[in-house]
Amino acid sequence: MKLSDELIMLQKSVGKFVKSEIEPIAEEMDKEDKWPDGMWKKLGDLGVLGSSVPESYGGSGLGSFAQVVIAEEIAKYSAAISLSYIAHSNLCMHNLYKNGNDEQRSKYLPGLCSGEKIGALGLTEPGAGSDAVSIQTSAKRSGDNYILNGSKTFITNGPQADVVIVYAKTDKEKGSGGITAFLVEKQFPGFSASKPFEKMGHRGSKTSELFFEDCLVPAKNILGKENEGVKVMMSGLDIERVVVAAIALGLAEGAFRESVKYAKERKQFGKEISNFQLVQAMLADMYTSIEAARLLIYDAAMQADEGQKINLQAAAAILFTAEATTKITLDAIQIHGGYGYMLEYPVNRYLRDAKLYEIGAGTSEVRRLIIARGILGVETF
Ligand SMILES: Cc1cc2nc3c(=O)[nH]c(=O)nc-3n(C[C@H](O)[C@H](O)[C@H](O)COP(=O)(O)OP(=O)(O)OC[C@H]3O[C@@H](n4cnc5c(N)ncnc54)[C@H](O)[C@@H]3O)c2cc1C
Repeated sequence: MKLSDELIMLQKSVGKFVKSEIEPIAEEMDKEDKWPDGMWKKLGDLGVLGSSVPESYGGSGLGSFAQVVIAEEIAKYSAAISLSYIAHSNLCMHNLYKNGNDEQRSKYLPGLCSGEKIGALGLTEPGAGSDAVSIQTSAKRSGDNYILNGSKTFITNGPQADVVIVYAKTDKEKGSGGITAFLVEKQFPGFSASKPFEKMGHRGSKTSELFFEDCLVPAKNILGKENEGVKVMMSGLDIERVVVAAIALGLAEGAFRESVKYAKERKQFGKEISNFQLVQAMLADMYTSIEAARLLIYDAAMQADEGQKINLQAAAAILFTAEATTKITLDAIQIHGGYGYMLEYPVNRYLRDAKLYEIGAGTSEVRRLIIARGILGVETF
């Protein structure tokens, strides 16, 4: 699929930035599990943080396809930075823009676009992952405020975030119809974040728990309407799957790039291993899966920007890409032989990063259930 001239230009400028600012630090970031100093500001200056937000709020208004292109380019060298970027720009900012009123948009979006402020989204809880509507965090009205109690876990950018979209139960009797989304600032009394978790992959991208202990949130910080949090959640879920799939795609392309390079350099039996047909078969399969994944993702992103419903396409794009990326990164290790098993080669990082995409933003099992429900028109949960 051919990109528009505008998206080709964006791809080139992000690619150039990634080569100069991200490739040189990607390995060190993984080893030290450290977010690179100044990276949010650099991404803000590059103009990519507000890609789905109009210029009037400090963004570039390029849309979801642009976000796919940016996530893919960054992930070719660092899935960790791409994941944090998407948690900020899509999970937080896109949902905030789509569901916020003008006061909320004007207050939060310009700082998030420039990278001065960092965003996150808190849905998952220790007892509520795939079954997201079973969350237990509560929000009780008290005058002009709500009092939040509970906790969230696995929150990308959690320890760094200045503003978090938090889902809480405002009416426990109403089940999924009793959930409300709130904009919570880190300085609100009763809000805190845990230390970052130690993860097998995406090291340097910070993930933590969030705690709400009688956390005071002004009623005007409701995102959308009271008890209509599921509407907010659903408004962003499909495109979230597509942009998250784009991270996995970029990662797969990185593993493929390293594999081609290594296969052309490494000699055994007196010739480069790229001469062996069983190695060639792995490269051919990698290429084919990457091309297929890209078509699924780009098509879903294009439809989303046209305002089409993409429930099935989005789930199919991320299901296919995530599983293909795990296989591609495993084959990348295979092509590297024993060297692939050594930490000094980046392919092991790609494998550790890849597994997340079969889990985060909904697991492969849940994606299959969504697709089956769409095909059959029946409840699958
Ligand atoms: C690095 C990382 C970053 C994350 N970032 C965020 C974030 O920014 N914000 C946020 O809110 N969340 C975030 N998450 C959470 C993520 O979305 C959840 O991990 C995911 O939704 C799965 O939930 P769970 O881990 O509780 O697994 P569970 O739901 O407990 O699933 C465990 C297993 O049971 C299977 N299973 C569950 N239900 C069914 C069913 N009905 N049928 C068949 N199989 C089923 C699952 O597929 C899986 O294999 C992040 C997670 C990670 C690891």
